[in-house]
Amino acid sequence: MKSFKGSLSKILTKFNINIFNFIEKNKIKTYIKTLNNKNEVIYNELGKKLYEKYLQDDYDISHFYEYLENIKINNQLIIEQHQKIINLELEKCEILGIPAEKLGNTQYTKNKICKNCGFENSLENKFCIRCGNKF
Ligand SMILES: [Zn+2]
Repeated sequence: MKSFKGSLSKILTKFNINIFNFIEKNKIKTYIKTLNNKNEVIYNELGKKLYEKYLQDDYDISHFYEYLENIKINNQLIIEQHQKIINLELEKCEILGIPAEKLGNTQYTKNKICKNCGFENSLENKFCIRCGNKF
């Protein structure tokens, strides 16, 4: 009976950790999506502004600083969120006693995160398709 209770509590622990991990990861992924969407809007505005200034023959880069800084901040946040996902996975492995090497098979690592801009590139990319950073 004792070992039955023990294995039941192990199963419950595993179940709880998986649920917790899933919910937390989804929260983070939603936040990453929000940040990416924000950046898309800023990129769009940046492009419009650039065109407007081009028509005015005005090439002062300071017109774009605000946009560029905001993109940079969002990209930094995106990188941090990806790191949080990795940490959650590592934490889960530690609690469940799974070797961390197995993380290579998780869905998360299917994409390459650009260190320069935070964009999620597919694994086969040799360069970041957003900023051209070499992997
Ligand atoms: Zn990039």
